[in-house]
Amino acid sequence: MIRRIARLELSDGRRVYAELAGGQASVLDAAPWLGGLPTGEQIPAIDAEGRGAGAQRLAPVEPTKIVCVGRNYRAHAAELGNAVPAEPLLFLKPPSSLLGPEGELELPPRRLSSQVEHEVELAIVIGSRVHRATAEQARAAIFGYTIVADITARDVQHQDKQWTRAKGMDGFCPTGPVVVSGLDPANLAIRCLVNGQVRQSGTTGDMVFTPEVIVAYVSDTMTLEPGDLLATGTPEGVGPLVHGDKLVLEIDGIGALPIRVVAR
Ligand code: ZN
Repeated sequence: MIRRIARLELSDGRRVYAELAGGQASVLDAAPWLGGLPTGEQIPAIDAEGRGAGAQRLAPVEPTKIVCVGRNYRAHAAELGNAVPAEPLLFLKPPSSLLGPEGELELPPRRLSSQVEHEVELAIVIGSRVHRATAEQARAAIFGYTIVADITARDVQHQDKQWTRAKGMDGFCPTGPVVVSGLDPANLAIRCLVNGQVRQSGTTGDMVFTPEVIVAYVSDTMTLEPGDLLATGTPEGVGPLVHGDKLVLEIDGIGALPIRVVAR
């Protein structure tokens, strides 16, 4: 069964998780991966991606950590002159990098970076605590999937020995618009558009390491908690973002995540 979960800021300022179905949102008393149940409150006229006049969309997760996999698509590894690693190549983004749908991605000052790039990625949302999981346990621990933009200051990534600054700046993890459970992640079309032009277009079928392999591998070294977010790498076509760009990240079956790029 497909379930679609949004996190919304309501007109009275409350921030809630909600399940989307039949053109309305059913408010939950907590995130569903934390056992949240319907309160009985319904918000009318909310579409399947959480859009509606009665609410503002937020990033649909509050993870304790965001774990990312680098170079998980052969063609993307090749475009940056890298080989595909023998095991998943992991790095972290801090929760302070999260940004919701329609959010403003503020470019860092030029003294920090002059080359900020987009990477569209399928992201796993963990549904139950898991540690040193088998593949089967890993599959059972996945609640669902959302879209992440692994925004990267490419010049900083090349300059630093590791990727914390390059991938960890505020706003560098746009996420949403919703979390979808019951979705088969094996062969989903994945796209990144900038100002309406397709920059990245691929399929999750080209991933080297599958979601369950990634969850099992990460859980070997760190306990994954409900709501944790794991980004699974980007297809080829990464490129620069500049002030005024309108970024749209799309994955079939999940939806579209629109972001505005601004420089101050
Ligand atoms: Zn990435």
